[in-house]
Amino acid sequence: MKTINLSEVRDKIKDLVQEANFELQDDVLQVIKDMQAKEESPAALSVFDQMLENADIAREDRLGLCQDTGLAVFFVEVGEDVDLNKDDGLGSLREAIEEGTRLGYEEGYLRKSVVEDPIRRKNTGDNTPAFIHWELVPGDVFKLTFIAKGGGAENMSQVRMFAPAAGQQGIEDFVVEVAEVGGSNPCPPIVVGVGVGGNFDFAALLAKKSLLRRPLGSHNADPFYADMEKRLLERINNLGIGPQGMGGRCTALAVHVESHPCHIASMPAAVNIQCHSHRVLSFEL
Ligand code: SF4
Repeated sequence: MKTINLSEVRDKIKDLVQEANFELQDDVLQVIKDMQAKEESPAALSVFDQMLENADIAREDRLGLCQDTGLAVFFVEVGEDVDLNKDDGLGSLREAIEEGTRLGYEEGYLRKSVVEDPIRRKNTGDNTPAFIHWELVPGDVFKLTFIAKGGGAENMSQVRMFAPAAGQQGIEDFVVEVAEVGGSNPCPPIVVGVGVGGNFDFAALLAKKSLLRRPLGSHNADPFYADMEKRLLERINNLGIGPQGMGGRCTALAVHVESHPCHIASMPAAVNIQCHSHRVLSFEL
């Protein structure tokens, strides 16, 4: 058995949400630089320069990379052999995550972007509740991954239920259509997370997970899906939307596809769009 103190989880999250919002990680910076090297349009090159300068300023001055500091979304893997110690007055792992989020957004002067009711729109004032996805896994693993999910990119995401006859072509056309309809709204160059299979809700979760399961720009271990990712990236970049919609060769930084078994009568597909401000960070205890 491994014992983990909830106070440690809370404190780690307080730092994690700030770090993710202040600092683009190396994989993201590298893909942005690689894409910039392929651009020719002066307007697109200038947008890339501004993105990189913005990243430098945010890191050095400890400022949010974007005014939209996002919903705080967490994926938590907890091993069956982990014992959670309820110290420092914390009654549950959920409470530790909520408290860490609250403290981190407050301390980092990060914008509070959550309303308590979708129609009546009163801000909760502390960027909670956090959006937490749990996974019970074997062993004594404790891994938590945070993604700051801005509204502009999330709004351009879609789920569609296909009949199996739509085939691979139907799925690929759908992914490109979602990127095209999004246009400049999700602050391109975007990261395109695709979930294929499962059911209605599972496909959406898979699409979100695909954004953070592996380093940006790496490919699916299955060559079939790796090829799909490469083809989709090329098609989306040929749309010509370009960085911040200014036109150019780079509309997407990466396409990540994840798949899952599904019903014989269904072929669900979801596309979760993330902006160039791809703020993902993990820790393990
Ligand atoms: S989509 Fe991303 S870059 Fe654009 S405003 Fe939202 S968080 Fe910021």
